[in-house]
Amino acid sequence: MARLRIKDILTTTPENQQITVKGWVRTFRNNSFIALNDGSTNNNLQVVIDFNNVPEETLKRITTGAAVQATGILIPSLGKGQSVEVKAESIEIIGDSDAEKYPLQPKKHSLEFLREIAHLRFRTNTFGAVFRVRNSLAFAVHKFFNEKGFLYIHTPIITSNDAEGAGEMFHVTNFDIANPPKDENGNVDYKQDFFGKATNLTVSGQLEGELAAMAFSDIYTFGPTFRAENSNTARHLAEFWMIEPEMAFCDLQDNMNMAEEMLQYVIRYALENNKEDIEFLSQRLEEEEKQKPQNERSEMTLLQKLQFCLDNKFERVTYTQAIEILRESNHNKKKKFQYLVNEWGVDLQSEHERYLVEKHFKKPVILIDYPKEIKAFYMRQNEDGKTVAAMDILFPGIGEIVGGSQREERLEKLETRMKEIGIPAEELDWYLDTRRFGSNPHAGFGLGFERLVLFVTGMTNIRDVIPFPRTPKNCEF
Ligand code: ATP
Ligand code: MN
Repeated sequence: MARLRIKDILTTTPENQQITVKGWVRTFRNNSFIALNDGSTNNNLQVVIDFNNVPEETLKRITTGAAVQATGILIPSLGKGQSVEVKAESIEIIGDSDAEKYPLQPKKHSLEFLREIAHLRFRTNTFGAVFRVRNSLAFAVHKFFNEKGFLYIHTPIITSNDAEGAGEMFHVTNFDIANPPKDENGNVDYKQDFFGKATNLTVSGQLEGELAAMAFSDIYTFGPTFRAENSNTARHLAEFWMIEPEMAFCDLQDNMNMAEEMLQYVIRYALENNKEDIEFLSQRLEEEEKQKPQNERSEMTLLQKLQFCLDNKFERVTYTQAIEILRESNHNKKKKFQYLVNEWGVDLQSEHERYLVEKHFKKPVILIDYPKEIKAFYMRQNEDGKTVAAMDILFPGIGEIVGGSQREERLEKLETRMKEIGIPAEELDWYLDTRRFGSNPHAGFGLGFERLVLFVTGMTNIRDVIPFPRTPKNCEF
């Protein structure tokens, strides 16, 4: 008989039909009640067995973590919390699980402990919910752009383009690193390396994305991104997934509108399609928050926070206005920031971003028009000569979730800026071609996928929203 998924069984009307179900045992009580889970939903299916009809030998093997198959009749459940249950006619052990040795005991484990057994944490309620939500969000991203007529482009993962993110790149080489070939000056001779030049893992697909946008008008990438940044924070990974739309004939306003619409679309999609998982995660967060002192608890539950993001337009503020707000804030005057805000031109730290979002505006904020010195060379220069058409979107609890800009489409301005900051034009000749042939105002942004998942799941550490996190000194599994 065909196996049914537990998610579907739980919404089926019980009419004494015979069904087969397979999954892993979460708990087994009183030699009678199996809580079975197959990952299709957070909810377990109760399988009731008549121990008089099941051999002692089999009963002993129904242990937490074991894979089992049950065939039986679907009946209304008398127990609370479920509408149906299976009255088993036969039960079969597919894969044993030694209860003594199984690391996941049916009790509450800390997230830190579960990170160490990331190969098994998929089987917990929390991570089941997190990764189903992650899956939905990824699907929603593709659905959104597809509906908008964007082309999905695969930009390279290995690249020789080192104009961006200098110092944060992972090198890719085939050399025996203890003994690489040298040139006559004693430098490593990359001409002899696999690609005939120095290469690294991509820190962003943007520059290549721009090339495609100059033909298809609207494109997006969704792929892995690598940064060798030594920041051991709860919001940085060395390997993360980034979504990067790039749009021709598009200015900063259009760019902001697109980012806002997209974020609201995918959050709404998850709320509608992962209601139970998000409700579970919302409760989980409330429990967690109870451990904190009253004044540190968030005013909204996860569900309220997500709904709030859908109901309110993101606040649009210039960098200059933000610096004023921060400088005049009591937080700054009472020296509660680690980095005090004194002058125009400083880069905003995560603490400042979160202050603006969580304390001042109390909603998502889009910060625009940053000083050109703290932003990338390709951002469009504003008339004031000091700022560029950049936009960062800041979210509560996260800080920066999106970084984007209108790009500098004027060849001369771009070349001058590159010279100013020492980027050799020869290396980016292919990029400059976009400005030579059919250049036009265009814009795009990068959304860190894990930061989005963090926000929607209410988890607090980015290591808990990617299956196998890569961070400094950690690359397990
Ligand atoms: P941050 O200041 O938080 O380090 P950034 O300015 O380096 O971010 P961008 O280069 O603009 O970020 O990258 C675009 C987006 O990618 C960011 O808005 C963020 O959502 C995400 N992102 C950047 N670095 C990381 C990382 N190390 N791990 C996870 N996500 C990241
Ligand atoms: Mn960074």
